[in-house]
Amino acid sequence: MNMFLHRLRRSRWLRQLRPLLTAVTLLSMVGHAVPASASHAVSLTMLPAAEEASNEAVDNQRLDDPRYSRALPSAEVLIDIGHGGVDGGAVYQDTLEKDINLAIGKKLYLLLRSSGIRAILNRDGDYALSDDNRWHGSRSRHQRDLSQRSQLSKEIDTALVVSLHVNWSSSERVHGPLVLHQPEGQSTLLASCIQLALNEQQHKHAVPRLGKPFYLLKVVQSPAVIVEMGYISNGHDRAMLTNPRTQLAVADAIASGVRNYILLR
Ligand SMILES: [Zn+2]
Repeated sequence: MNMFLHRLRRSRWLRQLRPLLTAVTLLSMVGHAVPASASHAVSLTMLPAAEEASNEAVDNQRLDDPRYSRALPSAEVLIDIGHGGVDGGAVYQDTLEKDINLAIGKKLYLLLRSSGIRAILNRDGDYALSDDNRWHGSRSRHQRDLSQRSQLSKEIDTALVVSLHVNWSSSERVHGPLVLHQPEGQSTLLASCIQLALNEQQHKHAVPRLGKPFYLLKVVQSPAVIVEMGYISNGHDRAMLTNPRTQLAVADAIASGVRNYILLR
């Protein structure tokens, strides 16, 4: 390798720049100033894959450095849009969970922002988060995806994480919303607020549940919940989750749940 290039890649300023680039990518998503593909191009050109693994330890150290955390964006709510890219999530014929999560997530983002709550989306297009996660050594895309989701909540100073999903059952009759929480009071309160609002919107009486086996709920430090907004396998739920007007009603219910939590906590 050209010695100058080699030195440049190893140089201090480039390593220092990396967390800031992540921040720029995220900020561009927030402001919608740059389309997702363009913001990806920034991080991917600046982050050659081979360099990433060797610098992992250095990067982890730097992310913990208080000087850098000040430069990163902060948000009240991180909206984690479940799945993306080759990972479609739950499927019913040509209806994909990832598309529903994204459509409702964008509406939720706008509703929260319009009521003065600083929200951030972890993806605003159809791509897998693992595509962006070049510093994780794992060859498994699923592992990189999960690690990226948890890494995001560490990098952004976020008060709570709302992860959007759609349920699936082998029985077409099973329907309704279900919110999963961490074994912790704040997460349980957040789950109860969102469940209550979704129950009202969908005329249900479901109770939130402890989401034990979910990786995201285990690793995310801030209060986090997984919102299963309905069942893709149920005709009524599927119609509600794919129609823009009722998608807005679902997003509105989740937003009011989040607002109630913020008032109560
Ligand atoms: Zn899902």
